[in-house]
Amino acid sequence: MKQTDVAIIGAGSGGYTTALELAKAGKKVILIEKDRVGGACLIRGCIPSKAFVHASNIVHKGKRSSDIGIDIGEPVIDMVRIQEWKEGIVDKMVKGIEGQCKKAGVDVLHGTARLVSDKSLVVKFSDEIPDEEIITEYVILATGASPREVPGFEIDEKMIMSSTGLLDLKEIPSSMGVIGGGVIGLELSTVMAKLGCDVTIIEILDDILPFSDDDVTRTIKKGLKALGIKLLTGSRAKLTGIDENNVSIEVQSPKESETMEFQKILIGVGSQPNLEGIGIEKAGIQLDKDGFVKTDGKLRTSSSNIFAIGDIRGNPMLAHKASMDGIRVAKTILGVGVERQKEPIIPYVLFTEPELASAGLHEWEAKEKGIEYQAKRYYFAALGKALAMNEKDGFVKILIDPQGKIIGCTIIGPEASNLISEVTLAIEKDLTVKEISNIIHPHPTLSEGIWENARHLSE
Ligand SMILES: Cc1cc2nc3c(=O)[nH]c(=O)nc-3n(C[C@H](O)[C@H](O)[C@H](O)COP(=O)(O)OP(=O)(O)OC[C@H]3O[C@@H](n4cnc5c(N)ncnc54)[C@H](O)[C@@H]3O)c2cc1C
Repeated sequence: MKQTDVAIIGAGSGGYTTALELAKAGKKVILIEKDRVGGACLIRGCIPSKAFVHASNIVHKGKRSSDIGIDIGEPVIDMVRIQEWKEGIVDKMVKGIEGQCKKAGVDVLHGTARLVSDKSLVVKFSDEIPDEEIITEYVILATGASPREVPGFEIDEKMIMSSTGLLDLKEIPSSMGVIGGGVIGLELSTVMAKLGCDVTIIEILDDILPFSDDDVTRTIKKGLKALGIKLLTGSRAKLTGIDENNVSIEVQSPKESETMEFQKILIGVGSQPNLEGIGIEKAGIQLDKDGFVKTDGKLRTSSSNIFAIGDIRGNPMLAHKASMDGIRVAKTILGVGVERQKEPIIPYVLFTEPELASAGLHEWEAKEKGIEYQAKRYYFAALGKALAMNEKDGFVKILIDPQGKIIGCTIIGPEASNLISEVTLAIEKDLTVKEISNIIHPHPTLSEGIWENARHLSE
C-alpha cells in the first residue's frame, strides 16, 4: 500500500504537467500510466501528426516550386524512413518527460488504475506483479479520450484505420476514404493528399467545420479542392465489402447513391472519453449530457477531492487545454495563484492548406450572443512577405468591440498556427487594436498582417 498527497491517473499532456507542477512545489505525487508517458499528444496525436504535416509540406512545396522557376521533379517518398524519423522524435519526447518526472521526484507507476473510493485506488500491473493500493488526499483524472468508432466500420488499423493506424502507415495508399470531416479528418486528409494519395472525405453534416465562419470554411474548402481532395457533404457511408486490398462503401449523398472503392478508410469522427474501468461510479462522479466528466470552475468533479482535466472533460480536446487545466488544478491544490475572473482563451490550430488558427469569438458566435462587434479582414495577398513566400491565400480577420478591444481573431494562411499567439495574448489582456497598432512589428514578416489589420480597424 502506498500513501500520497496526489494520485494522477494518466500521464498525457494534462497528467504529466500537473505531476511536475505539484512535485516541484513539494507535494508527494504518484502518476499512473498504462502505456508510455506522454499520452495521445506525444505518442499518437499532435507530435506524430505534425511530423507528417512537415514531411508532406516538403513534398507539397517541392511540387509548387515550379511556380517560381525551380523544377525539382518527382519526389521519392520512403515512408519507412519517415516513420523511423517520426518514432525518433516521439522517443526523444517520451524520454524527456520521463527524465523530468524522475528529477522532480514524481513516482511513476506503469499500470492501469481504477478508483475504489474517492480517496483510494488500485493499480493493476501484470499477472506476475501484485496489484498496489494507493491511499491519497486528492485524485486527478487525466485519462484522455480515444477515437470514436462509426457503427458498421470496425477499426482494425489495417484497412479501416483511426488516426493511430494512419500515423503508423509504412506505405502511402493509392486512395483513402475519410469518414468524417472533423479537424483530425481534415488535417490527415491534407497530409495524405500532399503525399500523393487520392482522398475523398464523406461528411454526414451539410458542411465541414461547423464552428467556423463561412468565409473561413470557404477558404478551407478551396484549399482541399486545390489538393484534389473530393468532399462529399450531407453524405452517409455504409460498408459494403472489405478484403486485404480494398474497402468498398456505399455513399448516400443528397442526390444519389454511389459505390466507391478505397485502399484504406480513415475514421475521423472525433473522440470519446476514456472512462471504461476507471471506477467513476465508485467515487460518485457525474457525467455531462455528452458523457464527459462534469467539472466546476475549479475543475473539481462532483466528488470534491477528485479533479478532472483535459480531454476527459470534453471539447475543446486540445493538448494545451489539458496542460493548462493541470496547472489550474495544481494551483488549487497548492492554494496559490490568483482566482481567474474569466475562462482562459483557448486558441486552436488546424494544419490544413492553408493553416487555420483562431482565438476568442467567431462572427457567428458574436451574432448569436448579440455582442456588438466590427470585423475586418486583411488579406495575405497584400502582404510582401506572404508574396515572397508564394503564399498569398487567406487572411487575418479581427473582431473588435465598440471600444476597439479585440474579442476574436481567425487567421487562415501561412504560419497561422504561430501567428495566433500574439492575438491570444491581446484578447487575454484586453488590448485594443490601437494598442496593437502602436507596437512595432518587424518587416517583412507575416505578423504585419495582424498589425495592418489592427491599424485599419483603429482608424
Ligand atoms: C491525430 C491527433 C492529432 C492531434 N493534434 C493535436 C494538435 O495539433 N494540437 C492539440 O492541441 N491537440 C491535438 N490533439 C489532441 C491532443 O492529443 C489531446 O487533446 C491531448 O493529448 C489530451 O491530453 P490528456 O492529458 O487529456 O489525455 P491523453 O494525452 O490522452 O493522456 C491520457 C493518458 O491516460 C492513460 N490512461 C487512460 N486510462 C488509464 C488508466 N485507467 N490507468 C492508467 N492510465 C490510463 C492513457 O494511456 C493516456 O496515456 C491531437 C489528437 C490526435 C488523436
